[in-house]
Amino acid sequence: MIKKNKGYKFRLKPNREQSLYLEKAFGCSRKMYNLYVDILYKELEEQNYISGKIDYKSIKLPTPAVIKRDYDYMKEIDSLAFANVQLDFMEAIKKYNSEYDGKTYCKKARKQKETLGKELTFKDLKGMPTFKSKRKNQNSFTTNNQKGTVSIVNEKYVKIPKLKQSIRFVNHRQLPENSIIKSVTISKDCRNHYYISFTVEYYIEEKQKASNIILGLDYSQHDFFVDSEGRRANYPKYYRKLENKLKKEQQKLSRKVLKSNNWIKEKMKISKIQNKISEQRKDWLHKKSYNLAKNYDAIIIEDINLRALGQCLKLGKSLADNGFGMFRNFLKYKLEDRGKQLIKVDKWFPSSKTCSRCGSINENLQLSDRIYKCENCGCIIDRDYNAALNIKEAGSSLLAW
Ligand SMILES: [Zn+2]
Repeated sequence: MIKKNKGYKFRLKPNREQSLYLEKAFGCSRKMYNLYVDILYKELEEQNYISGKIDYKSIKLPTPAVIKRDYDYMKEIDSLAFANVQLDFMEAIKKYNSEYDGKTYCKKARKQKETLGKELTFKDLKGMPTFKSKRKNQNSFTTNNQKGTVSIVNEKYVKIPKLKQSIRFVNHRQLPENSIIKSVTISKDCRNHYYISFTVEYYIEEKQKASNIILGLDYSQHDFFVDSEGRRANYPKYYRKLENKLKKEQQKLSRKVLKSNNWIKEKMKISKIQNKISEQRKDWLHKKSYNLAKNYDAIIIEDINLRALGQCLKLGKSLADNGFGMFRNFLKYKLEDRGKQLIKVDKWFPSSKTCSRCGSINENLQLSDRIYKCENCGCIIDRDYNAALNIKEAGSSLLAW
């Protein structure tokens, strides 16, 4: 048996009283986090810290229970939510340390110092944990399940600590069989929609599904991917419409006075569209990866570094944004849950330039050539289809079982 951890996110529909509690919990969690940041900055000041990794063992961080004594209103909130804040904060320091690369102040802050003479502070240090704000940061808190303090009631309600009445949620998918809820994160997005994300633990049998039906996928900017059976993923046109709308609104924003009321309104409008796009896309990616994982025993893709590819071909944002990385992750765990394999083939393997029929290499193939013509065997084939066939071929020899 293998232990698995996975998150499941649902819309949460609190009533008035419940949403009041959630808002308080968001606010108190943020406050607790900011108190920790404040303590950190004071400690750093005392240590005359300038740069380098933070020696967090030398910093005395009080427990949330101690901090809480000074804030009466925090007593209403579940203490595990605060324990998670402390963990989050420690993670943020660890992250700062692990990403510390000798550089100190971030570019923007240095520029502001040069041009405006702005004083540099700890918060301007690259990657330093900073104060959270209601507007800029996501409203959320996390609590853990301790022997049933978090549970699902009658399939559509969820019980959380400190609330007598369970909160209704939109239960659109089943949690894995025999799974245990470890923790939940409740959040609110810019449209004031509430969500609950369950982190569950469950065991699956260690099985290895024989790789009888194999599919190769070639990443395509236009179609998302083309597979080794010649099909295109057909990224829905409707989504592109929304993306164009987003572009228009972003242009409108650029013409407004920075931080004026109209600017803020437009900014809200934009983040609503962005949210909608990312949700639609995620939904589509889930469906696509689900169907592939269900119908194929092994899937082979190219191990491309999407960011590097975007930069070197100047494909820019559209590539980074269309979620191929997320798709790969979805595909991986959906296959693994079924005892199936996702194989990545080397990114230096010339999948586009190789003829899938005879194996000869066409060095003259240009990025603009949509059709692959083989000078050796005369094969004429769609460029992406040819690449997908090559990827399938190359990965078939790498299968673990
Ligand atoms: Zn050929």
